[in-house]
Amino acid sequence: MAALEVIDKFTGEIIRTLPIAEAADVDAAVGRAQRAFPAWAATPAHRRSAILLGAAERIRARTEEFATLIAREAGKAWKYAAGEVVRSVETFTFAGEEAKRIHGETVPMDASAFGEGRVGFYLRAPLGVVSAITPFNFPLNLVAHKVGPALAAGNTLVLKPAEETPLTAILMAECFRDAGLPDGVMELVHGPGEVTGDALVRHPGPAKVSFTGSPPVGAHILKVAGLKRVTLELGNNSGTIVEPDASLDQAVPRTVMSAFANSGQVCISLQRLYVHEAIADAFLERFVAVTRALKIGNPLDRDCDVGPMISDEAADRAETWIREALDEGARALTDFRREGRMLWPVVLTNTRPDMKVMCREAFAPLVSVVRYRSFEDGLAMLADSPYGLQAGIYTNDLKKAFRAVAALDVGGVMVNDTSIFRVDHMPYGGNRMSGIGREGVRFAIEEMTNLKLVCLNLGD
Ligand code: NAD
Repeated sequence: MAALEVIDKFTGEIIRTLPIAEAADVDAAVGRAQRAFPAWAATPAHRRSAILLGAAERIRARTEEFATLIAREAGKAWKYAAGEVVRSVETFTFAGEEAKRIHGETVPMDASAFGEGRVGFYLRAPLGVVSAITPFNFPLNLVAHKVGPALAAGNTLVLKPAEETPLTAILMAECFRDAGLPDGVMELVHGPGEVTGDALVRHPGPAKVSFTGSPPVGAHILKVAGLKRVTLELGNNSGTIVEPDASLDQAVPRTVMSAFANSGQVCISLQRLYVHEAIADAFLERFVAVTRALKIGNPLDRDCDVGPMISDEAADRAETWIREALDEGARALTDFRREGRMLWPVVLTNTRPDMKVMCREAFAPLVSVVRYRSFEDGLAMLADSPYGLQAGIYTNDLKKAFRAVAALDVGGVMVNDTSIFRVDHMPYGGNRMSGIGREGVRFAIEEMTNLKLVCLNLGD
């Protein structure tokens, strides 16, 4: 059986080797989840809630262990890894709370003459087995966004975490076992997307695929999944506008963090930053100074800001795109530096909208700063994207803020913040190339349940 080597992304050391799940193993896991479904679906809401809250508490108690593992297998700076653990505890807590309020409503059947004498209401029923496939960049919280709602709603699931970062999910599953989750309710399978993920997506058993990852893989999944529900949380080349009335004290540190946290490997990472020309010089001077002061290096250092990228291939791709942009006339305001998986933050100006660093999802520690003349120009540039996940606008002018809300075809508009803002109970997801459907615990539960109408004929 082929094996998966999980490495420490900073040192390159092998942390653990896992067997790769082939199609037969995936089939067995789906079978176990199917057999566990009837009992879990019939488990009372207060009991499902207690298990979710119990798991959240166990994760919280092991924060240090989780954060260290995330820092090592994902290369995420420790402070952001620890922040992810806090968020995932909250996500599972929201799921435990939502488990108790999954309900339908009554339907006024007599609104139709044909419905006279009838009483109608609907329930929300679990779907069955959910296939969950997750990316490397939030190995705990993006897993939580699938596991929490699936379990709260009474579904069982088969989870395939990213092959680069499966160990955090294994530790999470241990917390669920300790909290009393019955066998078979959450199955884990490990391996590359084209092997294990593909077998899971094509399997006819599950009722739904919930996927978070890149747009090309999402598009492929939609084609091969067959007759089942599909939720796709995909990428973005996220942008933010800074208007002249914005507070630079607020906007500068926040935009720097939004561009470079987790080496820019965040689906709502700030990649296109549009700054009004009236403040562009002052803004850029401060932006570059704050960027230069970032601490780059070992993610286990408590004060590290930027660690390594996930793989050599990812760093190669980013380097190629940056060099291509520089060859075509872009300017770097920070020194370009790359060592293996480490890529130092890059601030670019003089970029064009058709450069890959602008029009494709970079998923790397780079940002383009673009000047604009009028608010309408800036807004048009921000809106010019095939992606539609989140966008930001710094302004204290409500009329401008609402013009942006109306003009942007995105899942979320952040006013006086960047595209990167997210808390875990808000509806979250993208339009167009950024995906289909919404997460944010209550919204994911809606997409992981079927409406079941009950109609009583009380007429003569
Ligand atoms: P990826 O698409 O390469 O992989 C994501 C998951 O899909 C992994 O588990 C992988 O093994 C699996 N996979 C790959 N090929 C597959 C196939 N053919 N069939 C089934 N599964 C397959 O993405 P990544 O590099 O891990 O993550 C980065 C991407 O994820 C970026 O595009 C980012 O924007 C996106 N993302 C989106 C969100 C969101 O909520 N919208 C959040 C985080 C990341």
